[in-house]
Amino acid sequence: MADLQIDNLGKTFKGGHAALAGISLDVADREAVFLLGPSGAGKTTTLRLVAGLEEATTGRILINRRDVTQWTPRERNLAMVYDKHSLFPHLSVFENLAYPLRIRKLGEAAIRARIASVAETLQIERLLERRPAQLSGGQQQRVAIGRALVREADCYLLDEPISHLDAQLRARMRVEFKRLQRDFRATMLYVSHDQLEAMTMADRIVLINKGKIEQIAAPQVLFDRPETLFAATFIGEPPMNVLKAELAETGGRFVLSIGGALIGAGADWLSAGAPLAANRGYRIGLRPQHLVLAAPDDSRPGRVNGTVFAVETLGSRTIFDIETAGGMVRVMTSVDEARRHPRAIGAPIAFRVDPDFVYLFDAATGRTIRQARFTDEAGRQRVPARPV
Ligand code: ATP
Repeated sequence: MADLQIDNLGKTFKGGHAALAGISLDVADREAVFLLGPSGAGKTTTLRLVAGLEEATTGRILINRRDVTQWTPRERNLAMVYDKHSLFPHLSVFENLAYPLRIRKLGEAAIRARIASVAETLQIERLLERRPAQLSGGQQQRVAIGRALVREADCYLLDEPISHLDAQLRARMRVEFKRLQRDFRATMLYVSHDQLEAMTMADRIVLINKGKIEQIAAPQVLFDRPETLFAATFIGEPPMNVLKAELAETGGRFVLSIGGALIGAGADWLSAGAPLAANRGYRIGLRPQHLVLAAPDDSRPGRVNGTVFAVETLGSRTIFDIETAGGMVRVMTSVDEARRHPRAIGAPIAFRVDPDFVYLFDAATGRTIRQARFTDEAGRQRVPARPV
């Protein structure tokens, strides 16, 4: 097994812009690190550079602290998992799995032993004599993963290995993958554009946007404490509501409103000490999970009025899309709570904003100025106060 370091790695394709603008990250031994980001962010480029399939324009790649930047793919001893379409259709599952071992001239007994062990883990023992066309999509994908795992590689590189599967199979593969990673104790660099995949499977997520790293953090930290507006809106389902913050200053006190409705006021509660300027542009971020529908007679500060734009029923939760003077806001509620409120399109409705659950971003830089404070001193998660 191995650790992996990427140091100021950059890639500019011929005649193109910088696909990767100098990124640095470390993957610890036996860690699963996910490269997450939108289409074109530079995720696959990063993986191909690490694999040695592309030449870096700048920077270095170190495996076990040895500079491998100039090494051939073979010398790097990495295993890459592509999607299921990379299987040889004319070979049996067994021969597909044996292929990388035969190339490395392993003896027949060793090949059989390795395949038996991997097949057991992936639960494909009964499929070894079949051809890929005789397997379901999920089984094919497991074989594709198995073909990488039979090799004892220093590090496994995976490029969206389960993104072509249907939703149900993806959910199962996510769980299987977590168990696999534990069983194999493998170092993994995994590319995905699916936040659910990254959130559920990663030890740490590297969020990439336009060839640059936005943030590197454990999944929960990325959700709780996004360092940029991009990170805040990319992670979270439904996505965070982002509104223009109406900020007024009177005698050192900042007053924050949404569509004219007072959310909170105070000297530094909003900025956590960072200087704010009333004439600067800010964005306020509210997670749909942190908003609470307000009782009709609740007139305390933090109440925002609006009208029902749409109601989405998810089965276990309900989402209200509410039109306010400050913009459209989505509120996620329990089914029980939803029942106590109007759902007819155009009906008046209100929600409450708990000031502790407000994120604030600098509109010009996109940096987070204030994180929501929903953990108490002991680090326990708080939930917004429900209407009394
Ligand atoms: P996706 O999720 O869509 O696969 P990605 O994050 O993996 O996206 P990359 O494939 O790394 O993105 O591409 C990053 C940028 O580099 C894109 O703008 C892409 O068009 C460009 N690019 C990738 N490969 C090449 C190439 N061979 N020649 C020129 N430009 C390329």
